[in-house]
Amino acid sequence: MKKNDVIIVGAGIFGLTVAEKVANELHKKVLVVEKRDHIGGNAYSEKDKETGIECHKYGAHIFHTSDEEVWKYVNRFSEFTNYQHRVYSVHHGEVFPLPINLGTINQFFHTNYSPEEARRLVAEQAREITKKPANLQEQGISLIGRPLFEAFIMNYTAKQWQTPTEKLSPDIIKRLPVRYDYNNRYFNDTFEGLPKDGYGLFFQKMCESAKNDLDIRLGKDYFEDEELKKMTKDGMLTIFTGAIDRYFNYKFGTLNWRSIKFEKEVVKTDDFQGCAVMNYADLEQPFTRIIEFKHFHPERKNRENKTVIFREFSKTWEIGDEPYYPVRTTEDLEKLGKYKELSKKYPNVLFGGRLGEYAYYDMDKTFRSALDMFREKVVPFFN
Ligand code: FAD
Ligand code: UDP
Repeated sequence: MKKNDVIIVGAGIFGLTVAEKVANELHKKVLVVEKRDHIGGNAYSEKDKETGIECHKYGAHIFHTSDEEVWKYVNRFSEFTNYQHRVYSVHHGEVFPLPINLGTINQFFHTNYSPEEARRLVAEQAREITKKPANLQEQGISLIGRPLFEAFIMNYTAKQWQTPTEKLSPDIIKRLPVRYDYNNRYFNDTFEGLPKDGYGLFFQKMCESAKNDLDIRLGKDYFEDEELKKMTKDGMLTIFTGAIDRYFNYKFGTLNWRSIKFEKEVVKTDDFQGCAVMNYADLEQPFTRIIEFKHFHPERKNRENKTVIFREFSKTWEIGDEPYYPVRTTEDLEKLGKYKELSKKYPNVLFGGRLGEYAYYDMDKTFRSALDMFREKVVPFFN
C-alpha cells in the first residue's frame, strides 16, 4: 500500500466504520493500528476452541437499534438473527424477570395486580421524589418506587459502579424500560439481533469490503510508534478511539472508568442457567451477572454436555487496566471539558467512540457517531 492518508487508532466499531467509509467512499489510504491481536474492539466474538460455542470475549453484546441508517449499514456486512434478549435477576434466592414489568411487580409483592393497580402502587411508592431526578438514586425511585429500587437496582448498581448513587447520572438507568404489562423483552428498539456468523466474521467482512485501501496492523500500540506520532504531529488526519485522557497523558488527571474481570468456566452440562444473562441483584454474590453464551445462538447446533459461562466482576479502573465503562460523575465531565478544549488545539486529531468521547454508547450509538464524524468532519477535512 502506498503511503497512507489517514491514521486510525483502534480497530473497534468506531475505527473500522470510519476506516471503511474513508477507503470505500473517499478512496484514501487508511492505516489502522490496534494494540490487541484482533479487530472488533470490545464487541469481538469468536468460537471457543474447546466447545465451538460463540463467545463474546468482552462480555455479552446484543445488537439493538431504532436507527434505520445504522441498521441498514450493519446489514451490509452480515445477516442478523432474530435473537430477542431477555434477562432475569436473582434476588434473595428467587428469580425475577427484568426489566421491571408487571410479572416482576406481581411476583415481588406476591399479588395479581392489573396494569392500572400496579401503576398506582408504584406511583404511591415513588411519591417521595417530588422534583426532576438529579441522580441515579432519585431517578430509580421515581421510576419504580423505593422497594423495587432497593431490591433490583441499589445493590447491583453498587457492585457495578462502586460510586455513591447520588454521584451517578440518572441517564445510566434511563436506558432500562419499566413496563406495566408482561412484556419482558430487555430492549424497546425496532431492530434487534446478532450477526449470524458472529461478530468476528462481521468485522472481517467490513475490512474485506475496503481491503484495497485499508492496512490494519494488529498488536501495535500507537503510543509506542514514534513514526506514527510524527505523522500526526506533521498534520496527518488521525482518528483516535482510545481513551481521551490517555492521549493527553492524563494532563488534567485520570477520568473515572470501570474495568471488568471476566471469569470463564466450561461447565459439563447442556444448560447451566436456562437463559443468556442472569443478573445477581444482591451483594452476597460478588459478580454482577453470569453470561451463558450458547443461548445467544439457539439456531446453531451447539455442543451438548458442555457450556461456556462468564462471571462478570466489576472493578475500579487503574492505569494499565482496560477502561470499559465511563463513570461520568460531575467532576469527570468537568475534566472531560478541559480535555475537549485542549483537543481544539489539534484540529487534525479527532476523538471518537466510547473511549475517545468518554460516552456510555451502545454499539448502535457508536456506529451512529462514527457515521456522523465521517460526514461532518472527515469529508470536510479532505475537501
Ligand atoms: P472499543 O470497542 O473499545 O475499541 C477501541 C479499540 O481501540 C480497542 O480495540 C483498543 O484496543 C484500541 N486502542 C485503544 N488505545 C489504543 C492504542 N494506544 N493503540 C492502538 N489501539 C488502541 N453495546 C450494545 O449495543 N449491546 C450490548 O449488549 C453491549 N454490551 C456491552 C457489554 C460490555 C461489558 C461492554 C464493556 C460494552 C458493551 N456494549 C454493548 C458497548 C459496546 O462494546 C461499545 O459501544 C463498542 O464496542 C464501542 O466501540 P469503540 O470502537 O468506541 O471502542
Ligand atoms: N441495573 C441494575 N440492575 C440490573 C440491571 C441493570 O441496577 O439488574 C442498572 C445498573 O446501574 C446498570 C444499568 O442499570 O449499570 C444499566 O444496565 P444494562 O444492563 O443496560 O447495562 P450494561 O452493563 O449492559 O451496559
